[in-house]
Amino acid sequence: ECAITPKSIVQDACASYATLEKLNERVKPALDDLTRTTDFFSHYRLNLFNKRCPFWNDENGFCGNIGCAVETLDNEEDIPEVWRAKELGKLEGPLAKHPGKQEQKKNPKRPLHGELGEDVGESCVVEYDDECDERDYCVLEDETASSKGDYVSLLRNPERFTGYGGEGAKQVWDAIYRENCFQKSSFPHSANLGMSLNYNPAAQGFKQVLDAAGRQAQLHAQRAQYPNTPFVANTGYEVDDECLEKRVFYRVMSGMHASISAHLCWDFLNQTTGLWQPNLQCYKDRLHGYSDRISNLYFNYALLTRAVAKLGPYLRSSEYTFCTGDPSEDMATRAKVDEVTKKAGSIPQIFDEGLMFVNGEGPSLKEDFRNRFRNVSRLMDCVGCDKCRLWGKIQTNGYGTALKVLFEFDNNSEDIPALKRTELVALFNTYARLSESMRAIGKFKEMVVAEKNEN
Ligand code: FAD
Repeated sequence: ECAITPKSIVQDACASYATLEKLNERVKPALDDLTRTTDFFSHYRLNLFNKRCPFWNDENGFCGNIGCAVETLDNEEDIPEVWRAKELGKLEGPLAKHPGKQEQKKNPKRPLHGELGEDVGESCVVEYDDECDERDYCVLEDETASSKGDYVSLLRNPERFTGYGGEGAKQVWDAIYRENCFQKSSFPHSANLGMSLNYNPAAQGFKQVLDAAGRQAQLHAQRAQYPNTPFVANTGYEVDDECLEKRVFYRVMSGMHASISAHLCWDFLNQTTGLWQPNLQCYKDRLHGYSDRISNLYFNYALLTRAVAKLGPYLRSSEYTFCTGDPSEDMATRAKVDEVTKKAGSIPQIFDEGLMFVNGEGPSLKEDFRNRFRNVSRLMDCVGCDKCRLWGKIQTNGYGTALKVLFEFDNNSEDIPALKRTELVALFNTYARLSESMRAIGKFKEMVVAEKNEN
């Protein structure tokens, strides 16, 4: 049974479940409108195909290429070809090229109307985003690849059931949770257990620093040193919850996982009827009995609400242009963003970021926290299904942007880091995903009650 009652307070956030649900009812229509009806927020540019999984060998049978890790459906040959995991995981709609840098430089002042492909509808997309800012929590999309990536319609590629799973998906989730093993004074950063690779920006590559046996030895050493460190049920990963920062890192990952589970259960393909519909058993298996997972999802909602609300005045004062090339469209997009940020800001202090990275070992954890978050964003290149990789990348970028806004935007500082278009699009779409997950979980709960009443 889900132990959460509406009055319960979401730990580490300052709001009850009921408050967040009510807020979601207010914000959701505006957020859906923004992400579904504007060109700016319904297209995402990313490098989906040109990057290799930097953490393990693509050829060793684990994930890392489209062909592997999609063998989870029983008797896949019995399923009509269009419903097979490989097909469901493919992207749909036109992919369009980013206008080349040369072209942008020729006429830097004029908004570019690049050849963005049929129906893509995006016009101004000039961005020089290969400069890295040390305050970023995510890896820039073009960090290792020469190509500027492709535009993808998010409306035509909704996040839903794809059939991706098995060893490949497990390996990615395993690696994500392992990032939670934070540095202890006697462990260097590169010893984040299991992630035995050191990123070397100059060489744009990874250096292996420990083999599997080394990792195992380290794990044992750490366990011996910290025997009371609790284990997370079911995952087996150590969650070091002695301070807020480490707890928040775990909650963000688990909340993202819970949100992905909610979507794939809500928008599930019934392979008998060929209809897309909610799958109650899927929800029961992954979320219903796990109040901690649902709590983490709500926590993420509070975190993103706070980031979006905080960003509102900044977007207003900087008169951020949504560069459609058409002033009236630009104004309409800005008005929609304004509506979302104001509604998100209607509950003051939903999450107090001022408590993080200040006390005890907090300040020294910030860089570690950022590095781990970047590792998670790199891990998205190991996701072996195109659509899952797309949404995995959007959501890690969305959380990374939220963290950047919360922890790197100081209202009294002149030096506010710039937000790139992809970061803004990711932030608002990740918020919309969480909003949709909360709604889906509410409906699933009603279905559970209805089922009980029937019996
Ligand atoms: P998994 O969801 O793979 O979970 C693995 C283990 O993690 C579980 O056994 C449990 O012990 C633990 N766990 C589960 N949930 C949580 C939680 N919230 N917090 C903490 N621990 C938890 N599939 C799709 O159909 N559509 C998608 O869009 C999609 N996107 C994905 C994106 C990414 C980045 C990844 C890595 C996978 C994605 N998948 C997607 C696959 C999906 O998440 C599952 O991995 C797959 O459905 C297999 O599920 P499972 O039941 O084996 O458990």
